[in-house]
Amino acid sequence: MTRARVLLLTAALGPLDYRVPQGSDAPLGSVVVAPLGPRRMGGVVWEDESFGAPEPVGDNRLRNLFEIVDVPPIPAALRRLVEWTSDYYLSPPGSVLRMVLPGAAFADARRPIVEYRATGELPARMTPQRSVAMDAIGTRQGTVRELAALASVSEAVVRGLVNTGALDAVEVSADAPWPEPDPGFAPPDLSDEQAAAAEQLRAAVAAARFETLLLDGVTGSGKTEVYMEAIAAAVAAGQQALVLLPEIALTEPMLTRFAARFGCEPVPWHSGLRSTERRRAWHAIASGEAKIIVGARSALFLPYANLGIITVDEAHETSFKQEDGVHYHARDVAVMRGHFEGVPVVLASATPALESLAMVEAGRYRHISLPARYGGATLPDLAAIDMRRDPPDRGKWLAPPLVDALADRLGKGEQSLLFLNRRGFAPLTLCRTCGHRIQCPNCTAWMVEHRLVHRLACHHCGHVMPPPRLCPECDDEDSLVACGPGVERVADEVALRFPEARTAIVTSDTLWSPAKAAEFVANVEEGLVDIIIGTQLVTKGYHFPNLTLVGVVDADLGLDGGDLRASERTFQQIAQVAGRAGRGAKPGEVLIQTRVPDAPVMAALVANDRDGFYAAEAASRRRAGAPPYGRFAALIISSEDVEVARGVAQRLGQKAPVADGLAVYGPAPAPLAMLRGRHRFRLLLHAPRSFDLQGTIREWVGSIDWPAKARLAIDVDPYSFV
Ligand code: ADP
Ligand code: ZN
Repeated sequence: MTRARVLLLTAALGPLDYRVPQGSDAPLGSVVVAPLGPRRMGGVVWEDESFGAPEPVGDNRLRNLFEIVDVPPIPAALRRLVEWTSDYYLSPPGSVLRMVLPGAAFADARRPIVEYRATGELPARMTPQRSVAMDAIGTRQGTVRELAALASVSEAVVRGLVNTGALDAVEVSADAPWPEPDPGFAPPDLSDEQAAAAEQLRAAVAAARFETLLLDGVTGSGKTEVYMEAIAAAVAAGQQALVLLPEIALTEPMLTRFAARFGCEPVPWHSGLRSTERRRAWHAIASGEAKIIVGARSALFLPYANLGIITVDEAHETSFKQEDGVHYHARDVAVMRGHFEGVPVVLASATPALESLAMVEAGRYRHISLPARYGGATLPDLAAIDMRRDPPDRGKWLAPPLVDALADRLGKGEQSLLFLNRRGFAPLTLCRTCGHRIQCPNCTAWMVEHRLVHRLACHHCGHVMPPPRLCPECDDEDSLVACGPGVERVADEVALRFPEARTAIVTSDTLWSPAKAAEFVANVEEGLVDIIIGTQLVTKGYHFPNLTLVGVVDADLGLDGGDLRASERTFQQIAQVAGRAGRGAKPGEVLIQTRVPDAPVMAALVANDRDGFYAAEAASRRRAGAPPYGRFAALIISSEDVEVARGVAQRLGQKAPVADGLAVYGPAPAPLAMLRGRHRFRLLLHAPRSFDLQGTIREWVGSIDWPAKARLAIDVDPYSFV
């Protein structure tokens, strides 16, 4: 009789033993469907010795596997990555495995799926719901469920539209072949510097072993062109190449760029895919047919059949850190994946993380630098506007020098970008009469006014409400005032000052889909936009040659909050957004509005002294024992019942481990003391690099009884301290 040990897709259990039905075969890595109580659950056949080699279950108690799924087995290198990720981030292996095997893995790739799209005919009887749905669906295509979600109507409404003939069925085959990228389609003419960098990357691909290469090039130096050469080498050798991007919004322009270089678009992977697209992509990745994959961090765990290179673009971005579920950092896990697969990993950035530079210094990463912009474009000039000396007019946010610079660009027909990392109209609404501030009922957070959609919204839990007319506290009428600016408010000011200017607001509210992002890029490229007003979404990736002015509306915004990476992040963000200016023939100018022009980070930006800034920052981290010279881990205890959360946190605090070099802070209410209706307490561990934090935490949290109503989240190497 053959047995199989199976890791199931559930967080609650370790591996379980099953019987392999007679006549079938389930080698290591096989994807299977197994019985679990009354349910069917997917899983993967795993080594007996993993996960502490639990005792085998007696033959007489084994249940038969239901099915061995007809997909390639999950390779050993990926099984090792699942174990490592689970171990390092203290997450159940079943939760990590879910990223390897999303639902798409179990849907038969050959079975066609029925999608629907508008026929152009309107139903005879138009209800308000139907008209909302038809508007939202537009020219899009999807399953009934997807279209219903898209239009925020019930599935019955969509089915009704199908019955009336307003929507029409289309059969989509999920195994349509992907076009083959052609490595020789349109190779660029590289500058000498670029060619030297590309040669190093190509050699790393040819060597086919693990190495991390930091591609450190100023904005506009051609990093993308250079790493595409390494990808071309991998594709020419019949291998797969994965490119990780920090935002979905960046995928669409990247697909176009790859199409120009390789003759066809790569395979995208992100949460915005339709289920048919997802299914088709997963199977093509697992079979090895998909050659170039461009995706968000969840693409990292897919079962590539024959990976040759991993590239992490904008590798310094903190959005690579996942903040719920498995709290992993995609940049760090990408390096581990390269290690297990035995392939090179390229980290590309104009402003590398201090962690990555420290690895270069320690001799662990190879440093490849591109110090100049391509094609003779010069780096922009940065200057600070001292907001204490040159304040904006009352109730306005743009200081006179910035307003003058905007007027100048408008006159010359050049484009400008105003950067403010705040969505909406105003971050706070308060009552002039009684001082009441409107807070989210579920979170320790102010409600943010979004004037374009006439709503107050919580950016933490998504709670929305119409702006009240009366103060909810004192009932005074028309006493509520907006405090502080968001991008919408800055756009209002621009419209008031320059009524003739054509503006575009760019935030996750306006660029919520890859198609919207593509539309924005096209509009700017065609010169239909004079002034872009955007959040961090516009700081990276885009290449607009006619954009010559960047204004940073509030450079101090990221500095308060006491985050250990606040200065580094401010430096990176401003250097990145500055990098959008002057990428073509005309030189760029960057104006930074700040109240602390003498702060080291502002001075370094203006003096273009990156090395000096990093050296000072590294020295201060070293003194504090902060990453990368020391380690942190956070424990967040939450419950709907504040006393339950407090109780568990206190018991944990009483049993806090004591060890040489280890400091345990807390428990204390988290700065975000309530989130989505749950009360939160934090404990923070701080230790030297060599300390076994994971082992210590595992033993510690195992030593107390957990009430069912309390939840624990463990964040190893945290980036967020709220
Ligand atoms: P980075 O990723 O370093 O910001 P990009 O790769 O986006 O730089 O290059 C900036 C711009 O210069 C892009 O429009 C790119 O196509 C162009 N470019 C860079 N190198 C070359 C080259 N060798 N030949 C032609 N165009 C190039
Ligand atoms: Zn909320």
